Amino acid sequence: MTDIPENWRLSTQLVRGGSARTPFCETSEALFLNSGYVYGSAEEAEESFDGTRERFVYSRFRNPTVAMFEDRLALIEGAEACRATASGMAAVHAAILSQVRAGDHVAASRALFGSCLWIIGDLLARYGVEVTFVDGTDLDQWKAALARPTRCVFIETPSNPTLEIIDIPAVAQLTHAAGGLLIVDNVFATPLLQKPLRLGADVVVYSATKHIDGQGRCLGGAVLGSQAFVADVLGPYLRHTGPCLSPFNAWLLLKGLETLELRVSRHVENAGKVAAFLEGHAGVERVLYPALASHPQHDLAGRQMAGGGTIVAFTPKGGKPGAYRLLNALKLIDISNNLGDAKSLITHPWTTTHQSRSPEEKLGMGITEGGLRLSVGLEDPQDLIDDLANALKTSS
Ligand SMILES: *Cc1c(COP(=O)(O)O)cnc(C)c1O
Repeated sequence: MTDIPENWRLSTQLVRGGSARTPFCETSEALFLNSGYVYGSAEEAEESFDGTRERFVYSRFRNPTVAMFEDRLALIEGAEACRATASGMAAVHAAILSQVRAGDHVAASRALFGSCLWIIGDLLARYGVEVTFVDGTDLDQWKAALARPTRCVFIETPSNPTLEIIDIPAVAQLTHAAGGLLIVDNVFATPLLQKPLRLGADVVVYSATKHIDGQGRCLGGAVLGSQAFVADVLGPYLRHTGPCLSPFNAWLLLKGLETLELRVSRHVENAGKVAAFLEGHAGVERVLYPALASHPQHDLAGRQMAGGGTIVAFTPKGGKPGAYRLLNALKLIDISNNLGDAKSLITHPWTTTHQSRSPEEKLGMGITEGGLRLSVGLEDPQDLIDDLANALKTSS
């Protein structure tokens, strides 16, 4: 849309990338709340549909406010192209379903967000797609699963809620040898802490609902990849199935990107302090945070992430009753299944985000009855630590 100087640095891109002013010369990006567009002539309409003229034709296909969000996110991610979607799940769904057909093989890591598991584990089978789940941290399992032709591979790293780290360059290499594309759900890392495309992945998906909005206001999602993938595979699928992002939400998400770097760096700083406090507490059985030396893939996290992230997983002593006592004793941190928000939010994945999975399946992906997932917000970290310390006194 606009000419973006190649030498703009990240902070500048986050504030100005993709912006296109109307003739009214507004400062903030304009909000185009329109569904349709008009043509000066019948010929112009014809050319807009046969591809000889590039312009906006219908907001299910493209919209100027949504396009500004897509262009800005592509710039930050270092992707050739981006398409925004109505939610993170619409992005995951389209990234996979736009590629696969009956008879294909798809592989995925086992530790996934509940709805991602439903799409890959339950939905794909209905359409005759064969799926292999592996322990994402075990390269031998990846080698075995990818010894046959594979359409695509889907991973979350860090995973929700178990914070498993998967070796993106290694899995990318195996995926390409099997003839497939590697899709990375990069929600937990955010566009700032991990660059999957630079590490060898082909497609990146986001729930923009999380850190990109980051203030609990709206749903949104995005898929990023090569121009060829977006134009030939993903684009037609989105255009004809219609999970488009509302222009209003795109506008909120543009505002979210402007402050993303400031917010994520504070989230990470606070999460590190909270993780260190929890690790030293006698009432806590286990803490998982990628930047702690105790994390099983701490070294790998250090190689492919620029920080430990904004989420801390921990298990207070006392199993599920202990976890519930802690949750119910918190006064500042809210019980909520959202994450990446300015407000600190805590959830019990066993009974919420992963409730529909069987106990064996949950245990198999590292989710325990006593485990909690804490999304560390932007409050003063000492207030968060005080709230946790007080609740741990009650729970133990
Ligand atoms: C929240 C989340 C999603 C789904 O995003 P929505 O915007 O809620 O649809 C997908 N993947 C991960 C890792 C998530 O945390």
